[in-house]
Amino acid sequence: MDEPSTALKFLFSDHQRRFQDNIHVYPVISRRSGGLSAGINMNPDKGCNFDCIYCQVDRTPKAMADIQKIHQKVDPDRVIDELSHLIGLLEKNQFFSIPPFDKTPLPQRRLTDISFSGDGEPTMVPEFPEVLEKVLSFFKSRSHEITIRIITNGTGLFKKSVRKKVLDLFAQEDTPETERLPWSIWFKIDAADPQSFDFLDRSGMNFSSYWKNVEETLMEVPVTIQTMVMDYISESRSFHPEGEWKHNMREAMEKLLAGGAKIGQWDLYSVARMPPSPEVRPVSYERLLELSKSFQKSIPVPMHIFP
Ligand code: SF4
Repeated sequence: MDEPSTALKFLFSDHQRRFQDNIHVYPVISRRSGGLSAGINMNPDKGCNFDCIYCQVDRTPKAMADIQKIHQKVDPDRVIDELSHLIGLLEKNQFFSIPPFDKTPLPQRRLTDISFSGDGEPTMVPEFPEVLEKVLSFFKSRSHEITIRIITNGTGLFKKSVRKKVLDLFAQEDTPETERLPWSIWFKIDAADPQSFDFLDRSGMNFSSYWKNVEETLMEVPVTIQTMVMDYISESRSFHPEGEWKHNMREAMEKLLAGGAKIGQWDLYSVARMPPSPEVRPVSYERLLELSKSFQKSIPVPMHIFP
């Protein structure tokens, strides 16, 4: 991906997860999808089983003060009402006159996807399969050419029952083949060794068990891998991707692919929105490019970079 323009950089960095009176559905201009993405925030309670060092979700006591209930139940009908409101604005050509989306350049003025993403891990929410089912059914009779996407740290899919349900729903067997919606799963893998995993993702999970589950899941579920590439610089610790991290990632990806993992693409991205932790720093376009060129010497799947 080329470096984005100033207007796009502004929109890419503005990922407010609030839109009008909605609590779940929010529009963003997405650098990775190249257009308008309607996000479905399954975690307005900011619940996540990871605590990534670069996460931009503000979970400081002050930011959590207005969060009413932790682990609140998601009402699937409310999600569909909110989605219907947003899609209605788009269909009536009213959406792109609402600030800040009125600054969207013409090529990005199109709905590209519905993404399960937000302030936490969507696949860990018990209502997630039901919401996915209702979203697929909502778009069944509509003519939007969109992709349904799940942006995940993967851990909900570690459960066999959840990944079977997701794959069954995406198969859309009750829909004529020509009308089935494309889908994709963006599966986060930030590290492939215990030290980097503990440092970057801070999940509290044992790395060996995490990695065993990753291997098992990727044998069944086709994914695009998403990897955060960042620097961390503080007085007590510094972390750069070019050392051990790179070596271990390469080796792990080679093994996954050789073992039959269904990895269709690997994306490297860096920090676009500054996280609460100031020690986390983005890496430049040039360094991302260098890393991807180096990985591509032995990794046969397409790679894309998103500075
Ligand atoms: S998995 Fe996503 S939401 Fe959860 S802590 Fe990491 S970056 Fe934040």
